[in-house]
Amino acid sequence: MDQAEPFIIAGETLAPGTLRDVGFPITTMATGTASSLAVRVLHGAKPGPAVFVSAAIHGDEIVGTAVVQRLAQEIDPQGLAGTVLLVPVANIFGFLNRSRYLPDRRDLNRSFPGSANGSLAGQVAHIFYREVVERCSLGIDIHSAAVHRYNLPQIRIAAGNNRLVELAMAFGAPVIIESPLRDGSLRDLAQKSGVDMLLLETGEGLRFDRLSIETGVAGVTRVLAHLGMIEADDGLSAVGIPARANRTMWVRAPRGGVMHPARQSGDPVREGDVLGCVTGLMDEEAHNMISPIDGIIIGHATLPVVHQGDALFHIAAIAHPERVGARIDSITEAILASEPEGSAQGMLDEDEVV
Ligand SMILES: [Zn+2]
Repeated sequence: MDQAEPFIIAGETLAPGTLRDVGFPITTMATGTASSLAVRVLHGAKPGPAVFVSAAIHGDEIVGTAVVQRLAQEIDPQGLAGTVLLVPVANIFGFLNRSRYLPDRRDLNRSFPGSANGSLAGQVAHIFYREVVERCSLGIDIHSAAVHRYNLPQIRIAAGNNRLVELAMAFGAPVIIESPLRDGSLRDLAQKSGVDMLLLETGEGLRFDRLSIETGVAGVTRVLAHLGMIEADDGLSAVGIPARANRTMWVRAPRGGVMHPARQSGDPVREGDVLGCVTGLMDEEAHNMISPIDGIIIGHATLPVVHQGDALFHIAAIAHPERVGARIDSITEAILASEPEGSAQGMLDEDEVV
């Protein structure tokens, strides 16, 4: 059997089949306290590709942190071919402040590639990119909707890349969305550097939910199996084929007031279907919200207090929405019906974080 070479990171040398938690010093905070980026390195006994899984690039999008925590417990370097780098919190400052942004009000996901002498966001981007992203051939970056919004689990990939479509299909989230890349985003830079990236959008800001966590853990595991890094588990394969979309539309509040939703994420809709209504404070003058297309609802606002123009439903254009909706129902039911194992999963029923 082939034996992997040692893996050198942060000045440490990992023997094949071992793991190490390393920290990359980033900066000192206002109090003078040093801060560092935490990474768990799982270096497989056998040779193979290097893959990273990162969470909380937006500091309040914490559901990926729970996914990374589970992966940190479940991936055994003895049974691994290649190397997995786990980053539970990329934006450590936003995470501390329960904020999407850094204290310098910058968005880390618009700050790549950054620089060692740049802004706080630029320094974090620089270290994360140099020490984690550039070592890998594939990254899976996990985001959630903003606070008071929920996203159906969905993989977002750059348009027109067959390799990414293959990996996204292996991940097996209910929906795949192909979209252009934003300048300065991690995916934009990674693509220019030849690093394949999958972005998982799932769940709600500042919350954990079981569907998101289970979908994330199973999806990463399937991708690692697809790459031959771990043994494929037959129990992971029965997810059906994800639906693909390259066009999405927002439906906004037609007036300010109180929202009464009739539909939610995962529901199939037809053009003209009523999604819900917004009424005045006395429940008067209901204005309906209508789906402009056939598709699947991939995100919705969870806060009923709305201003006119607030984005309330996000719909992906998909053919055969009822068929896709039925499959999403069966995935959701299977995950929510499964019994959490052991004490570590007890936290999954506790969805309130703040
Ligand atoms: Zn995000």
